[in-house]
Amino acid sequence: MPHHHAPLVIVGSGPAGYTAAIYGARALLKPILLTGVQDGGQLTITTDVENYPGFADVIQGPWLMEQMRLQAIHVGTQVISDQIVSAHLAERPFRLMGDSGDVYTADALVIATGAQAKWLGIPSEERLKGFGVSACATCDGFFFRGKEVVVVGGGNSAIEEALYLSNIAAKVTVVHRRNAFRGERILQERLFAHPNIHVIWDHVVDEITGDADPRSVTGVVLRHVRTGDLTPLKTDGVFIAIGHAPAVDLFKDQLKMTPSGYIATKPGSTNTSIAGVFAAGDVTDDHYRQAVTAAGLGCMAALDAEKWLMATAQQRAAAE
Ligand code: NAP
Repeated sequence: MPHHHAPLVIVGSGPAGYTAAIYGARALLKPILLTGVQDGGQLTITTDVENYPGFADVIQGPWLMEQMRLQAIHVGTQVISDQIVSAHLAERPFRLMGDSGDVYTADALVIATGAQAKWLGIPSEERLKGFGVSACATCDGFFFRGKEVVVVGGGNSAIEEALYLSNIAAKVTVVHRRNAFRGERILQERLFAHPNIHVIWDHVVDEITGDADPRSVTGVVLRHVRTGDLTPLKTDGVFIAIGHAPAVDLFKDQLKMTPSGYIATKPGSTNTSIAGVFAAGDVTDDHYRQAVTAAGLGCMAALDAEKWLMATAQQRAAAE
């Protein structure tokens, strides 16, 4: 099986991964970046990006990620499309197995695997996933032209999904479990000003109802969070936008985790509990979770890795 070795290997291709690659390549660490299945990460399933500095005009998420990819390649990163299926962090060099069958070894490793959408976890959601239940409006919104949809959640993602869907669907109903959004004010104002977006406060989705043939969503049953009263609501689609969970499965038995399940890093650095392994972006950040903060952490990870590689090389030379 093909074996690839690099002083620096980066797992993940969002803003953290590509920024680590850009800095790592410019430090002559000949980085290999392993993209995972979704090259570009979460920004590839979003549309307008208005808060990434440096662009006076609204830019598109997929375009931004393509620019980062091209920049990383331009400065000398080897970008490989592979999904890591196991990681062996007790070995030196660190060893990763790809879904392709290829093996990757690294003197230093940056984990930038990001986060994935969370689901409600109810059986009807599972049954109707892909048949009217989705966690990505930009991927699936197209199927709801002129129809009615429900968006669940109260953060930036839910508001953005609702605004996006309002251009496609006839009516968008946002269901939120509290009576105030946590998303940015500017987005909230846009949502409240929109004539075909309605908000139902203090409710959660108790069940998603559907037809079996063809398998499709017909409605939701909402439950009032205090009274427990159930209210049926007719809808053609349900978009779940209740936040994200870090992609840590490969590493959770090997690295120290935070109580909320993110990779723990030493304060003020990207150092994990294993020397030579660094973590950056949404896989380690449960607080800011922005493209620009992920990019910043990616930069820090490459600088931390460079410093650590230099120090270990000096120690080795001194011992010889
Ligand atoms: P989030 O900010 O964590 O919001 C998740 C929302 O879902 C909250 O309103 C939460 O309710 C609700 N929720 C969580 N679990 C639920 C459940 N089981 N049932 C019902 N509701 C539930 O997640 P996000 O909106 O995906 O955003 C994640 C991060 O990415 C944030 O930092 C956000 O600012 C950032 N982001 C930024 C942009 C942008 O800048 N344009 C766009 C998208 C995301 P509570 O409010 O009651 O907790």
